[in-house]
Amino acid sequence: NDGFCHPVCVAVEVAGQGEAMPKASGLPDHFFASDGVMTKRPIRALTLSALAPRPGEQLWDIGGGSGSIAIEWLLSHPTCKAITVEPRGDRAANIRANALALGTDRLDVIEGSAPAALEGLPAPNAIFVGGGLSEALLSTLEAAVPTGTRMVANAVTLETEALLTAWQARKGGDLMRIETAHAAPLGQRRGWKAAYPLVQWSGVL
Ligand code: SAH
Repeated sequence: NDGFCHPVCVAVEVAGQGEAMPKASGLPDHFFASDGVMTKRPIRALTLSALAPRPGEQLWDIGGGSGSIAIEWLLSHPTCKAITVEPRGDRAANIRANALALGTDRLDVIEGSAPAALEGLPAPNAIFVGGGLSEALLSTLEAAVPTGTRMVANAVTLETEALLTAWQARKGGDLMRIETAHAAPLGQRRGWKAAYPLVQWSGVL
């Protein structure tokens, strides 16, 4: 260590992980404790790129899970703010622990379900929907959030994909299908083990 360290590196050392923190979004998955439900590194990197955090901006991360999206948003700049909404108490507790370990305990964790839990929150500059995507959520967001707010939504099921397909026809924006596969043992050799395809909408409300 030459005496200069990004503040985030210090946070990680304090957290006892003893590992230098990369500056790019899309941190290794093991930086976030989770029960397995988490936006994995390649998709997280694409999601943060689409969310495009800027200094001072506020994020709503709907369907917090492990908190990885909101935490990486906060890591992008010390003045960024984020609120995450997660109905499961065990996951909300885990999000708080991850935020503390990674030096972003300014994350505001709301234990509740969207859209009801969104009422009264400070207006966002960007919204990520990683869970709880529904017709009711989309219409609430449309009514409650300033026009021009950036939004990114990820869908894995056919049902939520259908919502985003119809939404794009009405709102424009970009609909992207992401398919990833990792090499894995296949008998004596290796084959491509595919993840579920993911559909991502990004645009403005
Ligand atoms: N982006 C997260 C993973 C999200 S998984 C991460 O990187 O860890 C989807 C999450 O949405 C789950 O934790 C689930 O409990 C939550 N969820 C489901 N319905 C919801 C709703 N109506 N409002 C908010 N969160 C919801």
